[in-house]
Amino acid sequence: MLSFTLASGDRLPALGLGTWKSAPGAVYAAVKEALAIGYRHIDCAPAYQNEPEVGKAVAEAIDSGMVARTDLWLTSKLWNDAHAPEQVQPALQKTLADLRVDFLDLYLIHWPVVFKPGVMFPRRGEDYISLDALPISLTWKALEDCVAQGLVRNIGVCNFSVRKLDTLCRQAAIRPAMNQIELHPYLQQGAMLEFCRENGIQVTAYSPLGSGDRPAGMKKSGEPTLLDNPVIQRVAAKHGVTPAQVLLAWGLSRKTVVIPKSVNPERMRQNLAAAQLGLDAQDVADIATLDRGYRFVDGSFFAGPGSPYTLEQLWDE
Ligand code: NAP
Repeated sequence: MLSFTLASGDRLPALGLGTWKSAPGAVYAAVKEALAIGYRHIDCAPAYQNEPEVGKAVAEAIDSGMVARTDLWLTSKLWNDAHAPEQVQPALQKTLADLRVDFLDLYLIHWPVVFKPGVMFPRRGEDYISLDALPISLTWKALEDCVAQGLVRNIGVCNFSVRKLDTLCRQAAIRPAMNQIELHPYLQQGAMLEFCRENGIQVTAYSPLGSGDRPAGMKKSGEPTLLDNPVIQRVAAKHGVTPAQVLLAWGLSRKTVVIPKSVNPERMRQNLAAAQLGLDAQDVADIATLDRGYRFVDGSFFAGPGSPYTLEQLWDE
């Protein structure tokens, strides 16, 4: 399995299984199947409301000898309602208990957005806390303490702009090891990749296939689809592979981790096999033309009426 090395020296498998929207029931079978066919990296989050089922599958795979804990990479994330320093460790302990492990390989701040404790999804302005009132630097310090206690091996962030990453790098005792961001041919994130390369930060590409199963409320009318894109389809036909495999091989070729979500055994197998596909210079040049700064997960759900967050402030664009 292709892997990338983090600043700590830990090697993480370059292709992992996403679990957002994987329903309880389906996710248990999906994780068991994934581990059986060779996945060694699972991307989790308490916000996906399925960590107990993921944990059951992981525990059974470890107990049966299918996989050793040390050969498995588990990532999870701190939800927006637990940024206060005293809430970080309880949130992490809940995830560790749900996943039935005693450490995580990687723990990420899920969004640079803060909610009041207990708010899973905000409905009104009072549900939010601004970053001025509860700065990321305080949350980060609590994550650093979790590393010191051996509860997590690496820490990082998701959905951070270059500006927010830069600020955090200047404040941190332990630099963020990872920025997990939306990344695919419609959102190629060139400046972000350059900044992260220069600063020793690994990038993970989320929604690498275009997140077609997002809830309808998160979709815009007439939005483009990646899997149906004629350029992607042409490259797929040329190599005798599927459009999804082209998208994943493209992400890996740029040295980004990819974490496609699937609960379908055939598609999980297909996605894993994408690591064997080599794209040529013409494919890469053709796919480069598709960049259009398009976000499928644009964060507008955090910028509703009464919220202290705006899209401009979220993405610093
Ligand atoms: P995605 O992986 O881009 O797309 C998932 C969709 O593609 C599902 O409908 C899946 O259906 C389908 N699919 C999977 N393999 C396929 C294939 N080979 N051919 C055709 N369709 C295929 O979307 P995502 O779930 O948004 O992103 C992946 C993961 O990134 C998430 O699950 C989550 O772990 C992570 N993520 C993180 C954040 C963050 O804020 N940090 C945000 C978004 C996502 P089936 O399941 O039926 O196969």
